[in-house]
Amino acid sequence: MAWSKTPDGSFLDSTGKVLFFSKDRFVNDICLGHCCFICGAQPGSKPFNDEHVIPDWVLRKFNLFDRTLTLPNGTTIKYSRYKVPCCEECNSLMGLQIEQRISAVVNSGPQAVRDHIANGNSLEFFVWLGLIFLKTHLKDRDFRIERDRRQPDDKIGDLYDWETLHHIHCIVRCFVNGAHLDKDVFGSLGAFAAKSEGSLDEFDYADLFAAQTMLLRLGDVVLITTFNDAGGALQGAMPRLERIGGALSEIQTREVMVDFAFMNLSLKERPRFHTECDLLNETLTERAVLSDQFELGDLDYAMRGALLRQALGDRIDHLQAAGKSAQEVEKAIDDGLFTVLFNDDGKFIERSFIPLPPNVPAS
Ligand SMILES: [Zn+2]
Repeated sequence: MAWSKTPDGSFLDSTGKVLFFSKDRFVNDICLGHCCFICGAQPGSKPFNDEHVIPDWVLRKFNLFDRTLTLPNGTTIKYSRYKVPCCEECNSLMGLQIEQRISAVVNSGPQAVRDHIANGNSLEFFVWLGLIFLKTHLKDRDFRIERDRRQPDDKIGDLYDWETLHHIHCIVRCFVNGAHLDKDVFGSLGAFAAKSEGSLDEFDYADLFAAQTMLLRLGDVVLITTFNDAGGALQGAMPRLERIGGALSEIQTREVMVDFAFMNLSLKERPRFHTECDLLNETLTERAVLSDQFELGDLDYAMRGALLRQALGDRIDHLQAAGKSAQEVEKAIDDGLFTVLFNDDGKFIERSFIPLPPNVPAS
């Protein structure tokens, strides 16, 4: 039996495994159903052991098993219980093909990570980060928007347009289906040196869902990536990124994430992605269609301000900017011009986080 196409537009291999999920199948089985998020196996059809959203070895490395993370609604959950449905088979395969390789590089230190990416291995990191982003948002199906039980039981995930995650799902599955990937199906990926300033934690995760941009700090290195921009976010942000002259503090990493997100949302023409399946030759290719020339549209600085507020959260209350009042800081944020990366002369700020003296209100 050869490869075949199902009525919903998915493709199966000769053993019936799903090679390509149509958008409908992806949304119904994986986003709305609770099938294995990699192979799409129905719950109960084979052994499941579920997959940590933040990989096991990262939890061990940064002693996070008993720590909690705080969701957008204020709920806290232990990292050890932060899991999405996954079958044993896919879980083992991911461990072997992805987690072992990435952990070896990360455990060799920040320079090894940057060398690995510079040596043309960004695909591995891109897939790995894409898996974490996808799992994070699939998990949001389980969490209420309102913690107050008297309020409707709507979940954070109910707000998502699941189809927007279809492209990431296609890319992260390349280790299962052996798809060939065109170079433009990748997004942007930057690895920056990070330092513990403003936070004692060595681990940090943040994302901006609408801009498909995420940040992952692993000790001395922070990875910032955008998934659906065909590299446009990095290209747009480059003039600012080139002026970064040292390790980034926690708050600076979040501003860099905003720069990626802002540029992605400002692209004049969005790349479009699709999967080509050649039933005759049994090949699968991920393709991107984008304009020949990189071009930004009009820059909406109010949007940058909104992204900054989302990325910085309550850190904004603790911001001190040299010579500026709290009101001036607020206005600079809303105008989208606020920066903790560069001073008024455009020079990189080495010490971006000056803790407020104790017992002094932030405002
Ligand atoms: Zn599976």
